Amino acid sequence: MGVFQIFINPIKLLVSGVLDLIYPPLCLICEKRLAQNEEQVCLNCLDSFKLIGKPHEHFSVPGKISITSAWALFEFDTPFQSLIHHLKYSRRRKPVMTVLNHYRQQIIRQLPDVYDLVISIPLHVRKLRERGYNQVDDMSSWLAAQLGARSGNELVVRTKYTQTQTQLNAEERFENVAQAFSVKQESMITGKYVLLVDDVLTTGATANALATVLKTAGAARVDLVTLSTPQHGNP
Ligand SMILES: [Zn+2]
Repeated sequence: MGVFQIFINPIKLLVSGVLDLIYPPLCLICEKRLAQNEEQVCLNCLDSFKLIGKPHEHFSVPGKISITSAWALFEFDTPFQSLIHHLKYSRRRKPVMTVLNHYRQQIIRQLPDVYDLVISIPLHVRKLRERGYNQVDDMSSWLAAQLGARSGNELVVRTKYTQTQTQLNAEERFENVAQAFSVKQESMITGKYVLLVDDVLTTGATANALATVLKTAGAARVDLVTLSTPQHGNP
């Protein structure tokens, strides 16, 4: 094993060095060449993202709201939309993590230190197969680690395949996601403080549908954190 390590590591280094010369790593957002200490997104672009810095208050969900507090972290400007687009549709998972790490202190300061479980809004198994990964899982494990909570992703399941909601109004979205989720082990949810994680908060219908199922299963409180929202400054 030792011999392989000695020989493989320099070769790996050489190959990645040569690749960097041929294809220098570029910033995902501005496409300028990254400096040695930069990863995925350049410092200039990182500093240009804007944290919203206060809880989200505009839910346009008909019926009962089961979410106690919600935060959409960043303003939905063009660079941030591009970041989310790459995360969802071109398998670029690392840049969002670079952004979260850059703003770690400000993000964690906003969130209460009360959670037992952090749960990604699950994808239906068919959607998961199409995309190959749940785009919020990395953020979800990151938050669990930062907040000293446990990941509860295995406790919920999306039972209904829902079409894209982009064209639907608030009422239709509510209908579309009603009964879309179920809890697998109620006893693990009872009395727990749960933080749900999603990428974009639009009407809140999807997260609220899951929150309702969790509250029915006995969760003490369900909150939501998302990367961004197009609703901010546009109620
Ligand atoms: Zn840049």
